[in-house]
Amino acid sequence: MKFTFVGTGSAFCLKNFQCNILIENEDKKLLIDAGGDIRFALNEQQLSYKDVDALYITHPHQDHIGGIEYLALTSYFDPGKSPIEYYGHRGLTNDVWTAISPGLATLQGITASFGTFFNMNIIKENGEFSWQSIRFELIQSVHIMNKYSIMPSFGLMMTTEKGTKVYYPSDTQFAPNQMKDFYRESDIIFHDCETSPFWSQVHSHYEELKTLDKEHKSKMWLLHYQDNVVEDWEGWNQKAREDGFLGFLKKGQVIEVDEKAKPSQLETKKGA
Ligand SMILES: [Zn+2]
Ligand SMILES: [Zn+2]
Repeated sequence: MKFTFVGTGSAFCLKNFQCNILIENEDKKLLIDAGGDIRFALNEQQLSYKDVDALYITHPHQDHIGGIEYLALTSYFDPGKSPIEYYGHRGLTNDVWTAISPGLATLQGITASFGTFFNMNIIKENGEFSWQSIRFELIQSVHIMNKYSIMPSFGLMMTTEKGTKVYYPSDTQFAPNQMKDFYRESDIIFHDCETSPFWSQVHSHYEELKTLDKEHKSKMWLLHYQDNVVEDWEGWNQKAREDGFLGFLKKGQVIEVDEKAKPSQLETKKGA
């Protein structure tokens, strides 16, 4: 299972791409979120809509859904492209369609629905799905709370065939009481990390994450940061490592989970 971080920046970054992640397993690719700059982010990895087999959406902010129209229309008008499998929480999917439908519902001569462009896989409350032998459990994150209710935003606990657990809450407030069990059970965490001097209150700020248990920080990579990290890459990474994190994820970085043993390692084992 391979993660390519096609973008690791915050919504309005200029020196990075928005925080969208491509997962590859058994030669198929699933994209977690498609922000408005996804065509550029994929292009930088020598990829395009043609390489996206499946799409999972975490929540309806533009840095996570603004590129769905690109994926939908380019795939729809490419006769050689199979429809993309869409995975998403039921309530969230309605919100996503409401946001993107003005640009997609009217094709020439056709009244289109979400299902016109994607093979829809709607996940029910407290649900999960599997894709390419990986189990994806949906975990709601507290990203934005208006006066009375929480925006539907669903991160993922991903479990590989070998049992390795990867937690990606997507955009989330700092909520250690609600998240500590997920931190504990995961082997690796990709965590939202705001780095601006002004706190938005709807993301986990670096200064808050710093206060987490050593054990949790030791398996945590940071992403969704502001451009100030790119401007002082070495400085921020040194600070992150000193504070006990794995570091900041860089645009284009690849992380392999359950990587097959390299031939040289097998030889050493045989000889031993
Ligand atoms: Zn975001
Ligand atoms: Zn967001």
